[in-house]
Amino acid sequence: MSAEMIDGKAVAAALRAELAEKVSAIKASGKRAPGLAVVLVGEDPASRVYVASKAKQTVEVGMLSIEHKLPVETSEADLLALVEKLNADATIDGILVQLPLPKHIDADKVLNAIVPEKDVDGFHPMNAGALATGGVGFIPCTPRGSMRLIKGVKKDLSGLNAVVVGRSNIVGKPMALLLLNENCTVTIAHSRTRNLAEVCRAADILVAAVGRPKLLGAEHVKPGAIVIDVGINRITDEATGKNKLVGDVDFEAAKAVAGYITPVPGGVGPMTIACLMENTLDSYLRATGC
Ligand code: NAD
Repeated sequence: MSAEMIDGKAVAAALRAELAEKVSAIKASGKRAPGLAVVLVGEDPASRVYVASKAKQTVEVGMLSIEHKLPVETSEADLLALVEKLNADATIDGILVQLPLPKHIDADKVLNAIVPEKDVDGFHPMNAGALATGGVGFIPCTPRGSMRLIKGVKKDLSGLNAVVVGRSNIVGKPMALLLLNENCTVTIAHSRTRNLAEVCRAADILVAAVGRPKLLGAEHVKPGAIVIDVGINRITDEATGKNKLVGDVDFEAAKAVAGYITPVPGGVGPMTIACLMENTLDSYLRATGC
C-alpha cells in the first residue's frame, strides 16, 4: 500500500482564489480592502523569506499589505509604540509580528500588546482562551491550515483517535484543541512521552509538530492513518551536499503505511500563509460588520 499524498500547495491555492474573489467583491462595492501589517525586527534570513512571501500573497489576494522592517537594535519600547499605532489604525485588520524577536525584546509582552481583535496569528491569550472554551477568536494559522487538510480527506472526525506530537502554544496545543472540537479522542505526546511509537500507532490522525528531522518512521504509523507533518527542518543532503527541507516524518517510510500523508515542502507550509489571509478577512468582516 502507498499513501495518497495531500497536496497542500493546491489546497492553499484554491483557498487563496476563494479569498481573492471575496475581497474583489468587497472592493467592487466601494468598501476599503482588508489590511494586514507585518512587522519584522532584524535580519534573520528565514524570517525575511517568510515576511516577503506573506506580503506577496497578501497583495495577490487583493488586500492592503503594510510592511515594517525595523533594525535589530530596535528597542522594546519603540516596537510596542508601533504595535499601539497599528492597533489604532482603522485601515489595518491584522497585525503580525514575525518571530523570533531579538533577545533584548520580550516576545510575550509584544504579542500580548496586539489587540486580540487584530491578532490574526491567534497567539494572544484571549484568542487561545477562546479556542479552549469555544468562543469566537482567531485560530493560529498552522493548526487551522492543518485542520483544513484533514477535513479535505475526511469530513466527520467524530470518535477518531488523534495523536499530536509536540505541545507548543503555536502548533501542538491549538491543534489538539481543534481535534477535540471535532470530537476526536486526543492524545498530546511530547519529549517526555514514553513509548512514542506505541502511542502514535494508535492514531487514526497523526500530527507531527516537533522540529526533529524524520523523527517519526513507519513504526509510528497505524496502517491507513492520516499523517500531517508540520515540521520544517533544514538538513544537508548527504548525496548532493546541498541544503534541503525535511519534515518530522520520514516521508518515504511513513508513506508505505499511511492512508494519506502531507509532503514537506508543499504540505502544511503553504496552508499557513493562506490561513493568515483567511484570518485577516475574518477580522475585517468582524470589524466592519459585513
Ligand atoms: P517547539 O520547539 O516550540 O515545540 C516542539 C515540541 O516538540 C515540544 O512541545 C516538545 O515537547 C516536542 N518534542 C521535542 N522533542 C521531542 C521528541 N523527541 N519526541 C516527542 N516530542 C518532542 O516547536 P513548534 O514551534 O511547535 O514547531 C514544530 C515544528 O513545526 C518545527 O519544525 C517548526 O519549524 C515547524 N513549524 C512549521 C510551520 C508551518 O507553517 N509548516 C509553522 C510553525 C512551525
